[in-house]
Amino acid sequence: MEKNKTEKVKIWLQEFPQVGFGYEIRVDDPTATVADYMAALDEFQQLNQENCAGCSGCCWERAPLTLPDLAKISQKFAGDSIDILSKIAEIKMDNGVVDIMLAKKEDGSCVFLDKEKSLCTQYAIRPIVCHTHTCLPHSAKAYSLRSAIINAGEDALVTRWFDDCQKREALPLQYVNEAGIRIADYVPNVVSGKEWDQVLLVDIVPPILWQSLTKKGD
Ligand code: SF4
Ligand code: SF4
Repeated sequence: MEKNKTEKVKIWLQEFPQVGFGYEIRVDDPTATVADYMAALDEFQQLNQENCAGCSGCCWERAPLTLPDLAKISQKFAGDSIDILSKIAEIKMDNGVVDIMLAKKEDGSCVFLDKEKSLCTQYAIRPIVCHTHTCLPHSAKAYSLRSAIINAGEDALVTRWFDDCQKREALPLQYVNEAGIRIADYVPNVVSGKEWDQVLLVDIVPPILWQSLTKKGD
């Protein structure tokens, strides 16, 4: 019988030295996807974390975007990646690195934040970095898993954006070269063209992290 989402990825409350209670994670099924990880984290947060309502503390931080985020956001914003990102994102190119993140207002808050109500105006389509954020401490492997997912998703988005820019000749190459970026380095990866429920965790993390995530007895 097919396991349900939260049987494939286990997340539980654990006490960490010096920092107190937080969460630990284990992957119990090689077919676990990023969506299974998100479902397990949702369930854990519902059981163990106070409601975020009324707090917008993390809505002032850098919020990198991923390609599956763009697919969700495109339900509300029309156009290709160039059109959508020009409305809601900031794109930085520096020292050989491209960073695509949610734009901020002048006061430093997220473009989607209703500051008066401390509410996300686009909660249903919020990016995975917001969906998986928690104020609770967590283990090094939980931290590394989240980073690996977001980094792969952001690389896939940058690849799509470069593709769209090249099709529309929308990006001055001189600008890219001056930032030390090699567009050829951005190629489709395991996230490209997929939703999160189609991306296997085993395909997104390095083997050593996978070993640690699947180790029983932790
Ligand atoms: S995750 Fe933490 S900082 Fe962010 S809104 Fe919830 S309680 Fe506030
Ligand atoms: S998308 Fe929503 S949850 Fe995420 S930082 Fe912006 S306002 Fe906060």
